Amino acid sequence: MGTNSETEGGRLFFRSETFASDASRRRRPPTGERVTEAARDIPVHAHCDVLVVGGGPAGVAAAVAAGRQGARTLLLERHNHLGGLSTGGLVVWIDRMTDWSGRKVIRGFAEEFLARLPAEAVAGPPAAAWGSRDTATAAWWQLRTAAFHGVVTHSPTCDPEVMKLAAMEMVLEAGAEILFHAWGAEPLMEDGAARGVFFESKQGRRAIRAACVVDATGDGDLFARAGAAYDADIDEADIHHCMNTSWLFGGVNMPRYQRWRAEEPEAFGAFMQRGRERFRYFERAFASWRDDVALFLGPRLAGYSAVDVDDLTAVEIQSHRLMAQHLEHYRAEAPGFQNAWMMLSAPQIGIRHARRLRGAGSVLRSDWDGRVRADEIGVSPSLAPKFPSVSVPYGALVPEKLDGLLAPGRHLSCDPNSHSFLREIPQCWLTGQAAGVAAAIAANRGIAPRAVPIAELQAGLRQGGVHLSDPRSAQSAA
Ligand SMILES: Cc1cc2nc3c(=O)[nH]c(=O)nc-3n(C[C@H](O)[C@H](O)[C@H](O)COP(=O)(O)OP(=O)(O)OC[C@H]3O[C@@H](n4cnc5c(N)ncnc54)[C@H](O)[C@@H]3O)c2cc1C
Repeated sequence: MGTNSETEGGRLFFRSETFASDASRRRRPPTGERVTEAARDIPVHAHCDVLVVGGGPAGVAAAVAAGRQGARTLLLERHNHLGGLSTGGLVVWIDRMTDWSGRKVIRGFAEEFLARLPAEAVAGPPAAAWGSRDTATAAWWQLRTAAFHGVVTHSPTCDPEVMKLAAMEMVLEAGAEILFHAWGAEPLMEDGAARGVFFESKQGRRAIRAACVVDATGDGDLFARAGAAYDADIDEADIHHCMNTSWLFGGVNMPRYQRWRAEEPEAFGAFMQRGRERFRYFERAFASWRDDVALFLGPRLAGYSAVDVDDLTAVEIQSHRLMAQHLEHYRAEAPGFQNAWMMLSAPQIGIRHARRLRGAGSVLRSDWDGRVRADEIGVSPSLAPKFPSVSVPYGALVPEKLDGLLAPGRHLSCDPNSHSFLREIPQCWLTGQAAGVAAAIAANRGIAPRAVPIAELQAGLRQGGVHLSDPRSAQSAA
């Protein structure tokens, strides 16, 4: 298995904070005690065909797709908004949807969703520039996170509030129901298959019954508790296992800051170095959808578990302190930040990786060779120009053994190298849309998700605007 390192032409644009790890923190010692919770009857809150748990990019795309297929669909989300990390996590930089020639390969839900956003809510290069290798154009967009490896890409930054609203309206227009403030606690299991969920809310513990469950929690909460096999190994050389709570500073002059970075790289380097010396972990500001708002997607903190409540708390405490420290340093030293203020820390903690399903199929580093999977549900741009686009198989959403459940989004089945790009927002839209169509077919036909006819699934995806490879180049799925 290769590593996703810079030498391999990988994705490490930001080396400085990648390995920030607070090894000195103290772990809570286990108490060794257990208590027994009394068994009780749980009210059934609702019935549906397709239950989607988690309203992030994958869950929203799944709910819209299932609703449009005519399935009675319910989307359950623990927070008060949709969009997951793309909104509540302030990950407003939507990564690449074009291949290295500038052709849009992630389409379908992604295309439709972005087209709904008003122009003032989106910042990014025009379509005519996608794929451009012109040095000046690429340098300009690189500072605005829309050019990599010298190629301009379709990777806009978007207003999170507008995205929340667009996601909510699309789900409702598709005829799906939403349940906010509801935390999916345990899968409801019958005959070894997932048939719904027990959730916690202000009404206490309740249940929802469903013909098919889509686990879109990002952390594999449901498939893990249902006993499905999963992996949690990481690529130490990549950032995909790092955690942090992102934030926004308002009142900035980003064009001024970007000019300074471009024209005085040595001064910028010295500024970053002083920040690291003062605070140990220090992050550069990214462009957002507005020139007066700066985006901080780090410092990335390593060595924590995304499914350990003490670790989640420690990352929150550290991230909030870092936010205040960054404000002080940026205001004092960075051109364009003199009037900056702490606009918002993300309502959702930034988790890139927790668990990855062990699926009936998978995406491995060895698959980045241009092969087309027979059960392809979409095509992902590759990590670097030297790799062809990557065919994403349906099997990566289907648990090895567990029935009644699909798992799109950042916890899909893949190896750590492939996770570095399959976890990105457009790829989560892609797998979410496929899970929604498949779950609706499974519920409608009364079959297990693994038995969904691939031709019918692919026809449904094409109807939804998804780009699939030419079927003549398909190979049988490994
Ligand atoms: C700091 C950071 C920077 C990133 N940078 C980029 C970037 O630049 N570009 C890019 O495209 N991607 C980026 N990513 C990756 C991307 O944001 C995520 O991988 C993507 O949002 C995952 O989508 P998802 O739907 O699988 O999960 P999530 O976005 O995590 O959504 C899951 C949703 O499920 C809900 N949920 C979870 N558990 C439960 C439960 N038990 N019950 C009910 N609801 C539940 C959550 O509240 C959330 O709304 C970044 C991620 C991080 C953390």
